[in-house]
Amino acid sequence: MTQFTDFGLAQPVLRALDEAGYQSPTPIQAQAIPPAMQGRDLCGIAQTGTGKTAAFALPILHRLSLSDRRAPRRGCRVLVLSPTRELANQIAESFSDYGRHLPYTNTVVFGGVTISRQERALAPGVDILVATPGRLIDLIERRSLTLEGVEILVLDEADQMLDLGFIHALKRIVRMLPGKRQSLFFSATMPKNIAGLAEQYLTDPVQVAVTPVATTAERVEQQVIFAHTGAKQALLAH
Ligand code: AMP
Repeated sequence: MTQFTDFGLAQPVLRALDEAGYQSPTPIQAQAIPPAMQGRDLCGIAQTGTGKTAAFALPILHRLSLSDRRAPRRGCRVLVLSPTRELANQIAESFSDYGRHLPYTNTVVFGGVTISRQERALAPGVDILVATPGRLIDLIERRSLTLEGVEILVLDEADQMLDLGFIHALKRIVRMLPGKRQSLFFSATMPKNIAGLAEQYLTDPVQVAVTPVATTAERVEQQVIFAHTGAKQALLAH
């Protein structure tokens, strides 16, 4: 079986994985990490729960550690696009966890909160920026962010992104990115419109896919019971 040590990941990344208690790579990680570490573009079909965040975060941290380039002012080296603020937060936390022994900064930006704090965080430049598309465009229009220095783009949950109506924002964002970049594309499903996007944005991508994770344990009996908030504790105890 593949081990994390087989990939040749930077030592600080391996240390963080060890501390997180990860023993061996999940199937999507085993397939995605080696080509992503080489700088290849990637088209991955994987759902949440498969370990897909580490499948892109680990090779990205490794690649950042290969050069001593600095993030440009009001810019970033890695841009991760996420459809929702919840996912964006989780991704940023994962980068913080896996990168805890590396000097890279990460920031997360999404709508529905004041923009000025995000503008201040971006001013000196950040290595990894995790963003929802709408707020990202707001920041660019306010000249608080430029995408000129992006070396790696990640599009996470691409199908959700389209379902939420982010297609135009996405297209605008991709037009602003440098042509020479690595692109990593993840989606739980690959309907025609997503495959079309992948074809347009990726160069000679490696295709990786894993079967969906089982969401429930088959041998555990499950029931749904509707209860008022006040009754939940007692019902749970019962
Ligand atoms: P994700 O699919 O990226 O949302 O990850 C699902 C969960 O699996 C997260 O809580 C991760 O911390 C955890 N995880 C990811 N990769 C591994 C691994 N190789 N070993 C153990 N846990 C992992």
